[in-house]
Amino acid sequence: MAKKGPREKVLLVCTVCKSQNYVTERNKTNLENKLVLNKFCKKCRKYTSHKESTKFK
Ligand SMILES: [Zn+2]
Repeated sequence: MAKKGPREKVLLVCTVCKSQNYVTERNKTNLENKLVLNKFCKKCRKYTSHKESTKFK
């Protein structure tokens, strides 16, 4: 049986230059808090913290 979880796509936005570098999926039931991840930003050319953003379109 295929289970449909409450997964939603989120953007990971560089907190330094605000560019949307990554798209990921997260499970709402797992995480209540906002995601903050250390990711490599091409624009900054270094690792920066990326915040999740659900603003699509
Ligand atoms: Zn950046």
